[in-house]
Amino acid sequence: MQRIPLISQEQQQRIALRNQPDTTRLWQILDAVKDPEIPALSIWDLGVLQDIEVSNDGVLVIITPTYSGCPAMDTIADDIRAALAAAAISPVRVRTRLAPAWTTDWLSAKGREQLRSYGIAPPEQSGADELTPDSGISCPHCGSVQTRRISEFGSTACKALFRCNDCSEPFDYFKKI
Ligand SMILES: [Zn+2]
Repeated sequence: MQRIPLISQEQQQRIALRNQPDTTRLWQILDAVKDPEIPALSIWDLGVLQDIEVSNDGVLVIITPTYSGCPAMDTIADDIRAALAAAAISPVRVRTRLAPAWTTDWLSAKGREQLRSYGIAPPEQSGADELTPDSGISCPHCGSVQTRRISEFGSTACKALFRCNDCSEPFDYFKKI
């Protein structure tokens, strides 16, 4: 018997949102909007795309930044408006919601895999929130857990810089928040 991967409650709630008949098509259109930093990763799989509401006033898209002051959010909002405009959907408003704050639990399974194939180790789902230099973070290049933290901060503050002892490659680890 095949084992079904464990889906967190957060993920179940997110998937339920997509199954509302009046917005299904809109969710599908917005799957084309990607994270400006990681071109393969959709804002849905990243967990930034939160909700879509349809009313007589048009379409309201709700997004939550991965961390406050994230400079990519303006680009993401523009991309959302452009994607919906291309499908002749208007008017569209994009609203940023800060609470509840974005959490790495909102990253989808697909999103975690896309981070890994981009060379970024996804946040560890279990284990301590406190990151120690030898946390056993697996290398996105070769899969080895013989890795060590070089710096508490990687290319951005939400990442830590690691190096793999086996393949010697450095990599960013997306911190669990
Ligand atoms: Zn490696």
